Amino acid sequence: MELYKLTGGELHRLMKEKKVSAVEVTEDTFARIAKVENGIGAFITATPEEAMKTAQAVDKKIAAGEELHPLAGIPIGIKDNICTKDIKTTCASKMLENFVPPYDATVITKLKAVDYVMTGKMNMDEFAMGSSCENSAFHITHNPHGLDKVPGGSSGGSAAAVAAGEAVMSLGSDTGGSIREPAAYCGIIGLKPTYGAVSRYGLVAFASSLDQIGPMGRSVEDVANLFYTISGQDPYDATSMPTHYPKTAEGLGYDLAGLRIGVPKEFYKHVDVAVGAAILQGIRTPEARGAKVVNISLPSTEYGLSAYYIISSAEASSNLSRFDGVKYGFRAENYTDLNDMYEKTRSEGFGDEVKRRIMLGTFVLSSGYYDAYYKKAKLFQQKVRAEYDEAFKQCDVIVTPTAPTAAFKIGENVHDPLKMYASDICTITVNIAGLPALSLPIGMDHEMPVGMQLIGPHFSEEKLLGIAKEFETLRGGLCKVATVV
Ligand code: GLN
Repeated sequence: MELYKLTGGELHRLMKEKKVSAVEVTEDTFARIAKVENGIGAFITATPEEAMKTAQAVDKKIAAGEELHPLAGIPIGIKDNICTKDIKTTCASKMLENFVPPYDATVITKLKAVDYVMTGKMNMDEFAMGSSCENSAFHITHNPHGLDKVPGGSSGGSAAAVAAGEAVMSLGSDTGGSIREPAAYCGIIGLKPTYGAVSRYGLVAFASSLDQIGPMGRSVEDVANLFYTISGQDPYDATSMPTHYPKTAEGLGYDLAGLRIGVPKEFYKHVDVAVGAAILQGIRTPEARGAKVVNISLPSTEYGLSAYYIISSAEASSNLSRFDGVKYGFRAENYTDLNDMYEKTRSEGFGDEVKRRIMLGTFVLSSGYYDAYYKKAKLFQQKVRAEYDEAFKQCDVIVTPTAPTAAFKIGENVHDPLKMYASDICTITVNIAGLPALSLPIGMDHEMPVGMQLIGPHFSEEKLLGIAKEFETLRGGLCKVATVV
């Protein structure tokens, strides 16, 4: 049986009925990895031995008749900016190439408690800065639906692995779109949780006021199960909040009759014709079940990019100051004194995009420019929040494209940072407002998947997942494992 094609929910039921073992599931996943990984490049570190040990332990529990959590024995990939005890966590940077964390991120502790099987650490843009996975210091990742295309970023490895059947689900992180955009490009489902819903303890910080860890998968049930397992307040993260989500995805759904779907015109201005058409066509699915479309306006959308790149770079310049050759990871070999050591370490350890953000962030925080840029961007943040609050008085959920285009060609945007930044236009204001949003596959543009974004009020994940579940049912499924040659 080709187990790698199944979802977590399907595998869980098979394991529960003792039709397959956790070891068989893990073996099948690693056989798939051996077959396709050369062409995809989704992993930075694969962890077959650890995976096999956990799978064996899960089989013992099954044999002993113990109750099985929906994620027990399920192969899950972890983005390489999430700390994993005794397993390298590189952030796809030369700076942390050999960094082995002495502790687990809270999300990992929670996953270990339910016996998940880690397949490995997934490729990404260096320190999560990018939209194509081309900023990894190690190698690029290919889109399983078209190997000459990018998988999106920065969680490109996490998305590609799930799309290619190299993991059943994965964790990514999203600061400005890094879960949703790669999910859209790779034809899978990705959820960016409400700010504060998931602990950031152990997530290597990029922009702390925007970062969130979130799930990716091939079924809504899987994404819900993974999200519910990792969410909740954490004493190690003062920005985490108490949450009241269900424990599992059982009974997931939403009554579409009377649902008010907000369609903000500003989001459709900058998107490819085929993408916009796929979304508007997709909205007909819930409409046929009694949902109503409401035209709304979010006028600040077009300034979102500028504000995001000011806020996120400012925070990044501060967060990344800890990589100085003393505390963590890489240190330059030849230097004359302390300052020279700092300078050489940071010049040699960081890639171009990271340096660009540190310089931009340092500039906007410097006295004389602080008021003109950073303060203005923070004021803009209030305006974006107010606009979304107003919009949610008129509608229950907002529907937009996830990205303005389908996946672009590898190399196409690498020398044009502004063009690369533009691929975040539909996702970033969601982070600025701290809202939850989910991307689901809704159509195709020239054989490449197109993603639809559902945005909801704070802590409305259950509703977003429920609506996504209805899409999945009405459309007879949303995702299939890509046929990688
Ligand atoms: N593409 C955006 C950036 O480069 C978003 C990244 C992210 O969400 N981590 O900043």
